[in-house]
Parts: sequence; structure tokens; C-alpha cells
Amino acid sequence: GLSHAAVLDWLTRFAATVRSVEPELTALDQKAGDGDFGANLVTGMDGVRRALEALVASTGNGRRGPDVPLDAAARVFLDDVGGTSGPLFGLLFQELADALGMAADPPGTAALALGTAAGAAAIQRVGEAEVGDKTMVDALVPAARALASCAPTADPAHALHVAAVAAHRGARATTDLRARRGRASYTGDHARGVPDPGALAVALLFASAHAELT
Ligand code: ADP
Ligand code: MG
Ligand code: MG
Repeated sequence: GLSHAAVLDWLTRFAATVRSVEPELTALDQKAGDGDFGANLVTGMDGVRRALEALVASTGNGRRGPDVPLDAAARVFLDDVGGTSGPLFGLLFQELADALGMAADPPGTAALALGTAAGAAAIQRVGEAEVGDKTMVDALVPAARALASCAPTADPAHALHVAAVAAHRGARATTDLRARRGRASYTGDHARGVPDPGALAVALLFASAHAELT
């Protein structure tokens, strides 16, 4: 199940993943945008890692729900991370935290599905991107649909794997699209042939989770 420790591991693993793929994310945003996406995400996840270390180090009887690390991640991205993507990732973490925090303990696939759908909706409310506009929405909406299609009682490790596959497929499909939102839309056809880095990062977020939960 999605324990506090499982979510800590998930976010820690995602932080390590984004560090290792930063050059590729940077190269993609250099081709299609202004080149700062890799740095924005790494800065954000480094901040999250520090916040999680502080959380773990803090003694006392603080609540230890699975929503606590996601809340910390949301705060870092909403308050401190620049670029268009920073606050949008913040909204996703916030909605995941809210859904997991409201679920019965320990939260499972149903809460993940609700949180991911709410995250996609919040990002679309703010960024006004539809599927096919070549943004992170192209990975997040298929991930939300995949989670919703899992049985609510399914093993969350399995559900997150299914979500990662759907998100990755959505991210790959951005390659041939022309961007209609964000900075990549200003570069016209330059972004064609280049997958959207934000969508790939969403796929990596879900892929970072599944191995850690069982
Ligand atoms: P900026 O373009 O401000 O430099 P980043 O480089 O941090 O922002 O983030 C770029 C990513 O943000 C894109 O790859 C895309 O996935 C995502 N993005 C951009 N605009 C939107 C939008 N309107 N809705 C959803 N995601 C968006
Ligand atoms: Mg950029
Ligand atoms: Mg920028």
C-alpha cells in the first residue's frame, strides 16, 4: 500500500531519476523551448529531497501519512520553482497529497486515480492545454485514465505501472505534434520531431513509483 515510507521512496527515486536524465531534458527544451526545463525540474526535486530529509530528521510526533511528503513536494514546486512547469508540477503534487490524505489508511489505487485526475484537471484549468497540444497533459491524462480503469482495489504498484506505460505512450506520441501551448508553440515547426520534455517527466514520475510500493 501507499505508506508514508513508500511515498518517500517514490519521490526520492524520482529525484535521482531527474538528475540522471537532466541533460536529455535540457536538450529537448533547447530544441523546442528555452532550455531551462531540465534545470527547473532538478532544482525542484533537489529542493524536495532537502525538504524530505528535514521531514525524516524531524523528531516529535508529527503525522506520518503518505500525503505528508507529497504536500512538502507541492510546497517546494508551488513556492520556489520557476518556469511554466514548476507551478504545474506543484498542482499535481498538491492534488495527489489531498487525495491520499482524504483516503482511508493506507490509500490505494482509488486514491491515486482520484488524485491524478484532479491533478490533470487543475493543470488544465491553469494552463488551458488539451490533449494533443504537446504538453505534460498528453502524458497525465492517459495516466489518469489508466488509473481509473484499474479496479479500485488493485495493487497500487500494478496500477502505477499501468499508469507509467500509458503516460510514456502519451509522451512518445507528442513527438510528431506541433506545440499549441507553452513556449514550444512560439518555435513553430521546430518542436516537431522532438518529444515534449514535460510529458516525458510525467511518465518518469509514474515509472519511479511502481517498484517501491510492495
Ligand atoms: P518555460 O516554457 O516557461 O521555460 P519549462 O521549461 O519549465 O517552462 O516547462 C516546459 C514544459 O511545461 C513543457 O515541456 C510542457 O510540458 C509544459 N507546459 C508548457 N505550457 C503548458 C500548459 N499551458 N499546460 C500544461 N503544460 C505546459
Ligand atoms: Mg523552458
Ligand atoms: Mg523558461
